Amino acid sequence: MDGVVEGTVAEQLGRIGGEFADPAREARFRAERLPETLRHIRLLFAASAILNALFLVSDWRFAGTEHFWVAVPARGLVIAASLICLGLAFRVTAFAMAERVMIGWMLPVAVGVGILVSSHSQIALFAVMMLPLIVWLAVPATFRWTAIGGATASIAVLAGWFWPNGAGGATFGLVMAMAVLNVALVLVVTRMNRLVRMESLAAGKLAASRSLLEQTFEASPVPMVVVRRSDNAVLRINSLARSFFGGDRAGAGGTPDITSVYADPADADRLRQMLDAQGRLTGYEMQIRTPQGDLRDILVSTSQIEVDGEIAQISGVIDITRRKQLEEHLARLAKTDALTGLANRGQYFARAEEEMLRARSGSKPLAVVMIDLDHFKEVNDRFGHEAGDRALKATAALLAAFAPAGSLVARLGGEDFALLLPETDLAGATGVAEHLRTVIENCDCSPIAEGLSLTASFGCGAVRPAETTIEPAMGRADRALYAAKTSGRNRVESGHLKGVASSVA
Ligand code: GH3
Ligand code: MG
Repeated sequence: MDGVVEGTVAEQLGRIGGEFADPAREARFRAERLPETLRHIRLLFAASAILNALFLVSDWRFAGTEHFWVAVPARGLVIAASLICLGLAFRVTAFAMAERVMIGWMLPVAVGVGILVSSHSQIALFAVMMLPLIVWLAVPATFRWTAIGGATASIAVLAGWFWPNGAGGATFGLVMAMAVLNVALVLVVTRMNRLVRMESLAAGKLAASRSLLEQTFEASPVPMVVVRRSDNAVLRINSLARSFFGGDRAGAGGTPDITSVYADPADADRLRQMLDAQGRLTGYEMQIRTPQGDLRDILVSTSQIEVDGEIAQISGVIDITRRKQLEEHLARLAKTDALTGLANRGQYFARAEEEMLRARSGSKPLAVVMIDLDHFKEVNDRFGHEAGDRALKATAALLAAFAPAGSLVARLGGEDFALLLPETDLAGATGVAEHLRTVIENCDCSPIAEGLSLTASFGCGAVRPAETTIEPAMGRADRALYAAKTSGRNRVESGHLKGVASSVA
């Protein structure tokens, strides 16, 4: 790419001049800096007017000499040009206008200083070199006009210096010195222009990436919060987090401490310790209290970052309250019989295992009762399957209501129910079964179906000291139930002797 520095089209800088190659981009750059440019040129014009006025006063000591009559009109021209341009600079509203004012200053000043140096006073040679320097470095015009102004000033002061007699042998040397000075100034101004524009590009990119970050933070579909480590103060909070935590409570002008929303304040220390140990935290489960006072389960992921020189923590939050409720619901369902709401077979055996351990370690008795409705097939046949279902539910409700506290009633399947009786021996189990038998027998079943009556048979069994599982006791209870069925139903039998059942009904 000839003549320009690499970059996107809008970012390319001219090799000579160092300005943006794209005129529109350059114009935007100039427009952005107009107030600063105006302050600068007003200062330049004011300084030029004041310094030349001081020089004019100082020149008064040459009153009457030839130099005096050269200095007065020359200084007068420079002062007048500077004052007029200063006045105009206050009315400028665009860079193009500002540049016209700068050109309007440079040309008369070049002529004035050219005239001034023609007197070959003590400081004239100094002024010859000084004016191009001022024009190149202190006039913030476009590079083209700076170059034209600088070259014009150089020619004007050289012409003034050589006029009318020339400078003898030093002519070539002075012209060469002026040429070298101008070339050096082209390089200096180009470099300055490039640096300023590169800095502006970098600042623009930084601002753009900051704004992208801000927007991403704000638009994140996850509630996010940035908290200062030293005091847990909320530094930044996106809108989702604001509504989730309650803007008034978590920062945003309210309570500045994020830990005020923690359900368990000890989570603050736990979070910090884990962060210190691991550097970041993923999926930490905790609870917060909403502004409405509800408890919410959340998963927090946190990383340590630096914000304005302070250590902070940026956290994203996922609300898992619904998920946890669903999990608990599913766990309950997995343990529950869908029709009756009683414990299902799985939960019965899990609980039986726990009770076996407890009974064995505490040398406590443990008994089971098997329950089966009598002639239930007939109930279905006479009153229909739905009435049968309602009868099963009613039986379950009665068993649950009248079973002793601490026992577990379960539906093992069909119309087979079982009762687990911790800290109960065979006699106690038989008593409980007898009570339940009478409850079912005396139940008014007419709301389920007119003319329906229910009875059930019960078989009891107790765990013996040498036994390690519940199955032998259940086998005895099952056999006792069979005995109850065969000996007439609506009875309680207990399997205390192997193969022999004793009747209580
Ligand atoms: P027994 O006195 O000998 O127990 O006679 P029974 O008619 O009750 O015989 P059994 O226990 O073998 O019959 C079980 C019946 O229970 C068979 C089936 O139709 C019925 N049953 C099993 N599960 C359900 C259920 O979920 N709903 C309904 N309505 N009936 C069921
Ligand atoms: Mg039955």
